[in-house]
Amino acid sequence: MRQFQFEYSDKSSFKKELVKIRQWCKTHVVSDVLFTIFSETVEKDRIQTVLDLIEKEMPGAKYFGCTTYGCIIDGMLCKTKIGVTCTLMEYPSTKLKLLQYKMNAENMDEVTSALAREIDENPWVSAVELVTTIYGMSMTGFCEGLSRIRPDVSVFGGGALDEGLDDVTACVFSKGYGIYQGGAAFLLIGGEDFHVTTTHIAGWKPLGRELKVTKAKGSVLYELDGKPAYDTYYKYLHIKNDENFFQNTLEFPFFYRHNGLDILRAPSACNDDGSLVMTADIEENVVTRMAYGDPWTILEIVKEGGAAIQAFYPEIITVFSCAARRTFWGDREVSKETMPFQSMVPTSGFYTSGEFLRTGTDVNQHNVTLVVAAMREGEIEERVTDSFQMGKESYSGTVSMINRLASFIEAATEELEEANRKLQEMAITDGLTKLYNRREIQNRINEATARFNGQAEEPLSAVSLIMLDIDNFKHINDTYGHKLGDDVLIGISDMLKSVIADNMPEAMAGRWGGEEFMVLLPEASEQRAMELAEIMRKAFAEIDFEQAGKQTVSIGVTEAKKGEDPDAISIRVDEALYMAKAAGKNRVSCK
Ligand code: GH3
Ligand code: MG
Ligand code: MG
Repeated sequence: MRQFQFEYSDKSSFKKELVKIRQWCKTHVVSDVLFTIFSETVEKDRIQTVLDLIEKEMPGAKYFGCTTYGCIIDGMLCKTKIGVTCTLMEYPSTKLKLLQYKMNAENMDEVTSALAREIDENPWVSAVELVTTIYGMSMTGFCEGLSRIRPDVSVFGGGALDEGLDDVTACVFSKGYGIYQGGAAFLLIGGEDFHVTTTHIAGWKPLGRELKVTKAKGSVLYELDGKPAYDTYYKYLHIKNDENFFQNTLEFPFFYRHNGLDILRAPSACNDDGSLVMTADIEENVVTRMAYGDPWTILEIVKEGGAAIQAFYPEIITVFSCAARRTFWGDREVSKETMPFQSMVPTSGFYTSGEFLRTGTDVNQHNVTLVVAAMREGEIEERVTDSFQMGKESYSGTVSMINRLASFIEAATEELEEANRKLQEMAITDGLTKLYNRREIQNRINEATARFNGQAEEPLSAVSLIMLDIDNFKHINDTYGHKLGDDVLIGISDMLKSVIADNMPEAMAGRWGGEEFMVLLPEASEQRAMELAEIMRKAFAEIDFEQAGKQTVSIGVTEAKKGEDPDAISIRVDEALYMAKAAGKNRVSCK
């Protein structure tokens, strides 16, 4: 394939370009011709003029496109309002087909089903390039619909916009269908000699601790960690809810785990109640992190992405870059991240209201991201591609200060989180025996009792307790000293852990007091608990302690009765233990 690109300025110069292409086609093998038109203006007359000229000068050519927040031509932000590319297919096996549908929030499923059917009927299709309006719609259903397309087909594209970042007036268009305000256009490409690879490049990196989405509805993010979502921006970054909110938060969008991918989600507005309007749906209970964007880090990631694309030896590259990236970089610098692709092969595309890409089988809507589609006809061996090069003046290899500070925050956060995990662990663990402490095992008994009594989710059909008390432990202490006494306590705890692991992994053991232990057995009958208690008794009796030799333990067992409170069960198991002591120790009793 071969591609020509133009910044459209006026009718007559465009016509001249078309005549040149026509000439070129006469002297070369060209199997099909495709124009893409990306327009920053939504003036239908101006768009129509371009389409009419193509129809007139090259009636056999196909074309499609949309309105945008800026066009990328020759790897750079287009200086005129309309960018046009003309791609010439050189292999007769390469096929193209255009489809366009009116689309609104209600009929997305029909649109994507119709598309999937078309693709099933045309086995040659290997890629779908899409442009779509997104006004007034959550694109979640659209993505789900696209995910049902035959799994070997690549799907990529972008959401339409206009120069004022307005998505109401945005439109899509294609040959044979006209201009739709509220619609989606699809280019189906394929054939045995056609190859495509895609990637998404963000460049924003996660920063600091995890935040959980505790309340969200549609694309409105209400709460993170139980607090209004906006508080996060104010607390950590001192970003105020003023006219600069959008620009400021662009530097710190959220990293959002979705379909196994880290996807960026930027807020587009902040409501008075502190909720944030995001650019796509947010699900509850998802873990997010703030991400930071800094020019050096972004270019570093672009460089990695570019190297991967180069290995594919593309002939042309189409990029769908988030409108937010144009805003983030500003017009003078934004081309820094697309020019390196042009150093390889002709690169075009546009600034979008959302970037769509299939990864695995799922089609995801990205934000703040660069979706890159690289295409070629023929095998790699036939290709010589210029190498991907970062502009020297725009990119220095020296790590930026922001990147270093962010690394510092990352490392410090990791250390704090580790310390927190340890503290949480300590708060529920008995220091000597490493079993649960009294408070924790009591909490778990309370919880199991509630489940048994039908007062909580996940009901339990039975709950039993085992209580153990070492026999004549005072004597061990008095005779061999406190240190050896401690060793016996550790010995009984290790025995409990291993008996539980081997026989009933769901059981939980805690240290109830000095030399008393409690084991909670969910879903275990009294009989099952008795069996386990007997195993414990025997196992303990076999341990040969240094100096203290063999020791014994008395054990009480009981099963909870419906409607009982946790204290009643604990008292009864204590009574059962007393019975074992009274009957001569070193035995199991139940009550
Ligand atoms: P019985 O057979 O009736 O249970 O008699 P006993 O001696 O085991 O019971 P008693 O309650 O009279 O003594 C328990 C002893 O456990 C008293 C206390 O000093 C000791 N103890 C409590 N906590 C610890 C500990 O953490 N380490 C050590 N070494 N001893 C402890
Ligand atoms: Mg005791
Ligand atoms: Mg004792």
